[in-house]
Amino acid sequence: MAGSASKIRGTSYQRDPKINRRHGRQWRKIRARYVALHPVCEQCQKEGRLTPTQEVHRVLPLSLGGSHDFTNLVALFKPCHSRISALDGDRGTYCYR
Ligand SMILES: [Zn+2]
Repeated sequence: MAGSASKIRGTSYQRDPKINRRHGRQWRKIRARYVALHPVCEQCQKEGRLTPTQEVHRVLPLSLGGSHDFTNLVALFKPCHSRISALDGDRGTYCYR
């Protein structure tokens, strides 16, 4: 456990700025379309709650070859996103399915 924090720093934030910029504009559109189709948090829905979608999470991050394909996206309520991101940790591949 003690050694995991240093690992996160080295791996999580290495992104090609060019890719980032290109994805920024497109991502906003894709995200909006996905939220329109999934207005309710998918994680909460599984647990029998209805909460509004506030964030869209990529199951497989772009840095690991993930895409903006709808199959790689999950609509989430903000606290759920935080929870999943925390579980994600340094692996970056958390998938609850
Ligand atoms: Zn939720």
